[in-house]
Parts: sequence; structure tokens; C-alpha cells
Amino acid sequence: SSRASQVLKAAGLPTDGSIIPGVYDGAWGGSGEIIETLCPTTGEVIGRVQTATPEETRSAIAKAVEAGRAVRAMPGPKRGEVMRKVRVALDEKIGAIGDLISLEMGKIKSEGKGEVQEFVDICDHAVGLSRSIQGRVLPSEREDHVIYEIPNPLGTVGILSAFNFPVAVYGWNFAIAFVTGNSTIWKPSPTTPLCAIAVTKIVQKVLEDSGLPGAAASLVTGDIDVGKNLVASTDLPLISFTGSERVGREVGKNVMERFGKTILELGGNNCAIVDKDADLSQALQGVLFAAVGTCGQRCTSTRRLLLHKDIAKPFLEKFLQFYDSATPETTLAMGDPLNAKTLIGPLHSEVSVQNYERAIEGVLARGGELLTKRSGRMAAPANWDDASGGNWVWPVVMRPKEGDQCWQEEVFAPVLYVAEFETLEDAIRLNNNVPQGLSSSLFTKDLQSMGKWLGPEGSDCGIVNVNVGSSGAEIGAAFGGNKSTGWGRESGGDAWKQYVRWSAATVNYGSKLPLAQGVSFGF
Ligand code: NAD
Repeated sequence: SSRASQVLKAAGLPTDGSIIPGVYDGAWGGSGEIIETLCPTTGEVIGRVQTATPEETRSAIAKAVEAGRAVRAMPGPKRGEVMRKVRVALDEKIGAIGDLISLEMGKIKSEGKGEVQEFVDICDHAVGLSRSIQGRVLPSEREDHVIYEIPNPLGTVGILSAFNFPVAVYGWNFAIAFVTGNSTIWKPSPTTPLCAIAVTKIVQKVLEDSGLPGAAASLVTGDIDVGKNLVASTDLPLISFTGSERVGREVGKNVMERFGKTILELGGNNCAIVDKDADLSQALQGVLFAAVGTCGQRCTSTRRLLLHKDIAKPFLEKFLQFYDSATPETTLAMGDPLNAKTLIGPLHSEVSVQNYERAIEGVLARGGELLTKRSGRMAAPANWDDASGGNWVWPVVMRPKEGDQCWQEEVFAPVLYVAEFETLEDAIRLNNNVPQGLSSSLFTKDLQSMGKWLGPEGSDCGIVNVNVGSSGAEIGAAFGGNKSTGWGRESGGDAWKQYVRWSAATVNYGSKLPLAQGVSFGF
């Protein structure tokens, strides 16, 4: 369509239907299976990408490993300078890449742009890190000795990413891996290869202009087999994996099998608790945005809502009004994500629609209740020219039975489960009583409740918010979750410490050699 062509052209991608090389290892190529990438909004094919064969994957790993030498030979602050240039190049294209994300992933325009902004922000963070990464000097118990803890680059980092953040997750990993002295090889989701290709082209140019081999940011598109080849490679000491718990469990085991390192960023089953003393209009907005934003396809989306019994009725009444008025023209403006007025776009794929339908059917079959007036597939909102297909569903709110299995599982769609509670202790217990531990939020004005929530008997998640919804994150803090979310941390904070190998080095600058436990060989 003309809509798709405009976006592809602005992002530097072909619009003539030609097959796009999906492997970059210093040169563009690829002779594996051709995958078609679809627009979630209309259902049309927007690109054909030729993926990596196993041989090409192995060769790309070898080229990335070789390029790692050049990265670690470059002084840290110079690597920071390269990151600054990546930042400038991305910022110049922020609108074009943002729109490409909207076209290929389906998230709304502001969120597409926001994703590129996250990459820009992590570049800034990386520039700072490039001059401040530090080990430690420790006192030794021995005379004329000193102990250093030294961070050195790992080599090459394998990045495997999910469909829902097709650019930012790569950005978080690439920026920190690069600035700590590593090269990277990226395998994006098989349903968002165009975002990966467009971003790699931007990074490639900066690397080459800076005298580095482009293979320092290699790319292999493809699906499970390509992913498995990266995971199995002993040339990749760290695999940073973002995706489902199911696949993450396998990736974690397989990397452990060869004693590699992992950063696992897996599913969330995030809870929002609205206590009786909360500012209800604040809570309403916070929960709504986190539940329906990105059409429920953020790892941090709110999936479970716990309402104090005293405020449950008035809160739900208002809350459901938003859902029941959801049309292209009203409050929850649903429609083409490329239209700046749209608040909710489509689900990403037909598989997502099936997961959504199965979840609703299951809860109803087990005696749960649908609280919203509408549910299921909806016709494509007709606020653009060529609405032909797409993966459109109504966001729903449900009241499942207490103890229903649905409470334990992440459904990656706009399905929100609601229950009531009497005491904050009960609500915290429910918050924690799931396998996952990514994000959580408590709405309260009570200082004691806040203290409890943040403390040792509080939320067991990696992200614990107060009067802020569960979704979203800022670059400054380390991002990630506990338990079956995988314990990984990315982005800011101390996350960089995972991208290096640590050495403890004891140096003797004296003339004697005091042996341990006072042992003497009589010298
Ligand atoms: P997915 O697990 O289906 O796929 C993730 C990646 O793994 C893809 O690149 C895929 O091709 C690859 N893959 C699949 N099987 C593999 C295997 N056996 N070995 C190696 N690689 C393999 O996930 P998805 O559907 O793309 O993404 C949605 C999921 O990602 C949700 O569960 C969501 O919560 C999670 N997610 C988590 C975070 C986080 O930071 N915690 C962020 C974004 C998404």
C-alpha cells in the first residue's frame, strides 16, 4: 500500500517488493529461507527477507568475534565517542524508524518513536559509562601487595530479541556491550526483521565511518534454528535473551550446558494494587495505560488488578466505561497506529489473537465472568484507506474464579483479570503468588503501606512502583525481573557489570614472597 511504501522508503528500505538480504557480517547477504513480514494493521506483506543458513550463521559469528578484537583495542572513551555518533545518527532518523516500528510491530506512533528514544537515551548513558567504568583497588593482608578487581570485555555478545520491542531491547544490549568493549551478533524476532535491518544499517555506517569493522554489530535474521545456533556457540560467552518463559527456559538450560552466561528477560504477570486510600483518578489512569497500552503487549503490561473491597465498585464502574466506549472516535481511540491520534493499535500477529481468544474462552469455561461489554475479534477500524485485515481485538476485563489457573500465566494481549482484597498483606501475598516477578505497582497515599511494599515482606518483583503503573521504564535504573522472569538486568544501574569478565589480580610490589598460612620453603 502507499501507506507502507512511504514508511519503508523513509526508513531506507526497498519498496519494490525485492528480496531484502537479512544477514550482515560486514557485508549484506543471506541465502536461507525467505520470510514474509506482515503489517499487523492491515495484514499486507510489507517485506520479504532472506534469512541466514546455519553455515552463514556460523560464519557471521566468526566475523563478529574477529571484529571484537578491534572493539576492545579501542580505548573506552573512544568507544564512547562512537556511541555518541550512533546517538546522533539514530536521532536524525527517529521519526522514520519510529514509524517503521509502528508499521511492522503495530504499536502506536508515539510508542514507536519512544522506542528509538530509548536507544538514544541508552547511548547517552553509554557515553557516560565509557569514562566511568571502573574496577576496584582493595587492601591486601600481605605486606607490599595490592589487589585489583579488573573488568575486561567478554568478547562477543549474542542478542536474541522479542517482537514487542524490536529496536529498544537491541539498543540496550548493543550500547552497553559495545561500550564495555564487546562486539555483538543480533537475532531479532522473525516477525520484525525490517526494524532490525534498518537499525543495523544506521549502526553499520557509524562503525565504518569510525574505522571499525561493521561486523562488530552483526545481524542474522531467521527463526528458531538461527537462535539455537547462537545459543549453542561457545564463541558467544554471553547470550542476552528477551522473550517468553517457555523459550527462555530452554535457552537458559542450553547456555548453562556449555557454562556460558545469560541475561534472561522473560515474561511478566504484572499486578496493580489499588488500596482504599489511593488517589482513584491517578490509579485509574495508571492502571488503564498499563493494561491497554501497546494493546497489552509490553512485558510490563498490567495483567492482574487487585482492588480494595471498599473502592472496588466505584473504581470498576469508571474503569469499565473507558473499555465500553472504545471505538476509533471515543476515549480509547483504536485504529491505525500510524495515525497520531490513535491510542491502541492491533495485536502483532494472528498467533497473538489466538492466544487472546483461548485465554478468554478458558476463563469463561471455568466459571469466570467477562466484565466488559465487548470481547473477541473486531473489524478493522476504518480510519485509513486500505483496511483489509489485521489483528484487531477488543481489550477486555475479566473476573476469573479465585485460584483459577489463569492467574499464574502471562497472556500477551489486552486481557486484564480483576479481584478484590481486604488487607494489604493479602494483596501483597497475591502479587507474589505467581511464578513471574517482573513489575508491580501499588496505588496508595499511606507511608506505612509504601514502606511495607518496598521492604522485605513486600513485592518480590524486579520493578516495584508506587503510584506509577507497572509498564515502562527509564534508562537510569537496571531493568529486569526475578523468578521465572529470569533475574536478568539490562540498561542502567549496574547492568553493565554483566557484560564483562571480572579478574581478581593480586600484585606483589615488594621483594619478599609471604606464603599463605605462614608456610616457608626455607628460602
Ligand atoms: P519468543 O520467546 O517466542 O521469541 C523470542 C526470540 O527467541 C525470537 O527471536 C525467537 O525467534 C527466538 N527463539 C524461539 N525459539 C528459540 C529457541 N529454541 N532457541 C533460541 N531462540 C529461539 O517471544 P516473543 O513472542 O517474540 O515475545 C513475547 C515475550 O517476550 C513475552 O513473554 C514477553 O513478556 C517477553 N518480553 C520480556 C521482556 C523483558 O524485558 N522481561 C521484554 C520484552 C518481551
